[in-house]
Amino acid sequence: MTAFSSSGPARRLVSVLRQAGITNTDVLSVIETTPRQLFMPESLAHKAYENTALPIGNGQTISQPLMVATMTQLLMQHECKSVLEIGTGSGYQTAILAQLIDKVFSVERIAQLQYQAKRRLRNLDLHNVSMRHGDGWEGWRSKAPFDGIIVTAAAAQIPQALVEQLADGGVMIIPVGEQQQTLVVLRRFGEQIEQQRIGDVRFVPLVKGELL
Ligand code: SAH
Repeated sequence: MTAFSSSGPARRLVSVLRQAGITNTDVLSVIETTPRQLFMPESLAHKAYENTALPIGNGQTISQPLMVATMTQLLMQHECKSVLEIGTGSGYQTAILAQLIDKVFSVERIAQLQYQAKRRLRNLDLHNVSMRHGDGWEGWRSKAPFDGIIVTAAAAQIPQALVEQLADGGVMIIPVGEQQQTLVVLRRFGEQIEQQRIGDVRFVPLVKGELL
């Protein structure tokens, strides 16, 4: 595990997350020490430890820290040795996962974002991540099954390919919907699927079709 040092603003962010109900100390500790300012344009770095989503170019956003923490905490309630992330974006959620889970796979449809995220993770010495430029609706079949799947863009419906790539007993955390979106925790037990709705959320859409 890579140890980074924390700062005053990072400690304040963690206390906001704690007050909002995040209790997993491993999740809080990696959020405290991961330099979020490196995952956004320099002009926004002064907002890096605010609990908000921020633009990262190409019409996309780095997710709100509370959402990253919530989704990671939901994932960590289950034994996960491998995780597939759909929507690398800035690579911030990827970096958090890489410090908590042995093997991380991440798919992004916009080549430029994927390239920048790859460079950031390399600079932070996080080497247990494999990235792919591709369509997240298809998942990453050759690396499946995954103990966990985390989708960081809202899907109109749950992608069937992702359900198929989930290990038996595996867990998927996914925002579902278009105008109205709900965070869903899906578990697979053999052919049996269980779904739990966590609450309303707001994500950019999981786009179908053409790669950029
Ligand atoms: N976890 C990221 C969230 C980025 S926003 C972060 O915190 O920075 C969601 C990302 O999903 C965007 O980068 C967007 O390009 C990507 N995305 C949208 N549709 C996709 C698809 N079909 N396949 C792969 N990535 C997709």
